[in-house]
Amino acid sequence: MELLDRLRGLIGPEHVLTGADTAGFGQEWTGHYHWSPLAVLRPASTAEVSAVLALAHETGTPVVPVGGNTGLNGGTMAEGALMLSLSRLNRLRSFNAETRTVVAEAGVILETLHSRAAEAGLAFPLTFGAKGSAMVGGFLSTNAGGSNVVRYGSARALCLGLEVVLADGRVMDLMTELHKDNTGYDLRDLMIGAEGTLGVITAAVLRMVPAPSAYATALVGMRDLPSALALLNAVQAGTGGMVEAFEFMPDRYMERLARLKPELTCPFDPAPVNVLIETATTIAGEAPQERLEALLADAFEVGQISEAIVANSETQRRKLWEMRESAAEITFTTPDLVDTDIALPLDRLETFLMRMKKRLHALDPQAEELVIAHLGDGNIHYCAYPSDMAQAAAIRAAVAEETVALGGSFSAEHGVGVSKRATMARHKDPVALEVMRAIKSALDPKGILNPGKVLP
Ligand code: ZN
Repeated sequence: MELLDRLRGLIGPEHVLTGADTAGFGQEWTGHYHWSPLAVLRPASTAEVSAVLALAHETGTPVVPVGGNTGLNGGTMAEGALMLSLSRLNRLRSFNAETRTVVAEAGVILETLHSRAAEAGLAFPLTFGAKGSAMVGGFLSTNAGGSNVVRYGSARALCLGLEVVLADGRVMDLMTELHKDNTGYDLRDLMIGAEGTLGVITAAVLRMVPAPSAYATALVGMRDLPSALALLNAVQAGTGGMVEAFEFMPDRYMERLARLKPELTCPFDPAPVNVLIETATTIAGEAPQERLEALLADAFEVGQISEAIVANSETQRRKLWEMRESAAEITFTTPDLVDTDIALPLDRLETFLMRMKKRLHALDPQAEELVIAHLGDGNIHYCAYPSDMAQAAAIRAAVAEETVALGGSFSAEHGVGVSKRATMARHKDPVALEVMRAIKSALDPKGILNPGKVLP
């Protein structure tokens, strides 16, 4: 293969993996998607990524970028394509505590950012279950969300600048650390969430925030979602907007958790709606726990909540978080499932869940539901376990229909990949799709970048 020889010349023969050496790159961790890449490339610098893409462009060879491989939608499927692993671009190019910015390459792991920021009394607040593997390039390319979006926004809100290698190998330098920059179209925000279809992110300027000096964490039981929304608003008002996380775990979730991980059994009889709520303060000497307890006592008095446990130690806090962060693990234990990732206006979640219960029952009376949600930002992971996977497409379609009918989005934080392309065709505004296709063909005329993803 002449192409592979040329690639070996560009990045070193030991970094062009083929055959058995590509094992581990041929599937998503859930096992839902499998493929055989032509080769896995492990460049070490932006210059090497640029050289690889220039050659791929010249030869019309498809290239699929991959980071920590923590995706869920087939976004890194690379049948017969070159997989471009960014894991060796793992340097922190600079760290500035004064301006609260860090320049990180695409292969830096999210947890590394967390610990480096913590050393300086700061926080990089994006966080989710896969933080030990997920990488900068991947969480920006999917505009990942997670548990703290209610306070800090998704990945996009934490990115000030980008370095991107375009399909033909040109390097686009958008590495500003400015908070305001109105110099034409926002190409940074175009690249974030593009899932590697418009360019390959090689580095980013990321924004940090002051690290909270203390947290208050509680698990609260309630009868319904409107009560939960009222509680969220009361705690936001009562803490000056210091709610870091507001995570919904319904009784069904708690039952499954107790069955699969008995050590994480809910400390009270699960209510229909259980919420992990966390507030924080950056003010030295302030005790957020007292304030949260007082607010929960008020909520208890008016019958808004029925149960509450406030963590009294970091160990207890970690345990409550483990209940939430076990979600992916306990969800995918049963491989035959339909997993979705939707966003709704905050006051319509209950209606959605009621409608879906009926729809699911009509499609498959034996199917079971499993729901977990970042309630603070309206993002629900609605999963169903059909009795027959032949129903999967119909269930997926029903979820998208009910979501869109209620003013929601069928893709909140995991990206589109291949699994939501049909839904894109059905529900995305047709003019928006035309504009997306025009952008794609302008930036990647040969269609070599992550082909078959995002666009229907
Ligand atoms: Zn999530």
